[in-house]
Amino acid sequence: MYNETVMARATIEQKLDLLGEQARYDVSAPGSRPAEAIGAHQSTDCTLTGLERCIYPAAAGGRCMPVLKVLMTNACRNNCAYCALSAGTDTPRAAFRPEELAHAFIEMERRGLVQGLFLSSAIPSDADDAQALIVDTAKILRRRYGYQGYMHLKILPGASDPAIEETVRLASRVSVNLEAPSADRLARIAPDKDFSRELLGTLQKAVRHAAAVGMPSGVTTQYVAGAAGETDAELLHTSFRLYRSLGLRRVYYSAFQPVAGTPLDGLPATPEIRERRLYQADYLVRQYGFTVDELVFSADGSLPLDRDPKLAWAAAHSEFFPLEVNTAGREELLRVPGFGPVAVGRILAARRQGRLTDSRQLSFFGVRLTKAAPFITIGGRRVAGSVGQLSLLADD
Ligand code: SF4
Repeated sequence: MYNETVMARATIEQKLDLLGEQARYDVSAPGSRPAEAIGAHQSTDCTLTGLERCIYPAAAGGRCMPVLKVLMTNACRNNCAYCALSAGTDTPRAAFRPEELAHAFIEMERRGLVQGLFLSSAIPSDADDAQALIVDTAKILRRRYGYQGYMHLKILPGASDPAIEETVRLASRVSVNLEAPSADRLARIAPDKDFSRELLGTLQKAVRHAAAVGMPSGVTTQYVAGAAGETDAELLHTSFRLYRSLGLRRVYYSAFQPVAGTPLDGLPATPEIRERRLYQADYLVRQYGFTVDELVFSADGSLPLDRDPKLAWAAAHSEFFPLEVNTAGREELLRVPGFGPVAVGRILAARRQGRLTDSRQLSFFGVRLTKAAPFITIGGRRVAGSVGQLSLLADD
């Protein structure tokens, strides 16, 4: 049983400090870390203790904004092996009342510190009871304070269908954390959770309700990458089954970090570069026309860490290159390292005006020429290097 008395008299600032910092495990943007948003925002009025630890960047609607990311409570009945909040850890416990959290958020929003709320929670007892506190907080913001802005609300595993529906009606975005790509993998790290019924089933219900109300920012999920011994191939195959079957807006990958006092505290941390490679691979399939099966995996199902997945594919397909930029189609150009969708669009538009003759035109369109040069010709001439000279390419 968790210790629920330690912070019974905690101030709002102490709760924001603790429950904001511990909300870092819920991903609001690829690679999001606390307080990164503050520097990008005009206000520097962060004098309340803990604010720098509860403001995070969040990606939604094609932009990134600072949000208050916080837990209703960190008291949890469950024993997920990777989690700092599991019942077996001795972390101090605290909880917000909906009124105090709603008031704290609206004060921060009115001071210009944040532009949205990301609200999650641990599960002290019944999932619906915990979900009701999230809903009550959101209702106060929407109805009492008239707040119309961004709210990402977590849907907790095992929440009932009415609780999911009510959450969806109040939110701009909802998410359900799958944590692992399959029931077998989940059983290794979260013995209290049922993958099919509590996680996948809850995700499916959230998607159904979100579609019914036309939720603006859609439904997302996330994994703890590297906690359950899963491979990159497993993660990506599950992600794209979900993108296709449920129309998820995003899948997030959170690199596992061992937490002292948990059963996995001896497991090595997942390198951040693995998390980055997963996002790059996810992006290639969503935006560049690749399939998961085309990506280059090692025999153990890992993405290469020493180069990005597009460069790895290009290095493995010398028969595809060099491509002539004056004649190649959009799908072909998108496979060239250093070419992105915007640059390809500009190239195609420019070709309608005349032939491309100079590599400086490509740079002007946004092509990263140091990456692209070995893979293209312009007017039949190589730019520099060759497919065999990949070592010349800087990997970023
Ligand atoms: S349900 Fe699991 S992951 Fe969520 S807070 Fe509780 S122990 Fe942590």
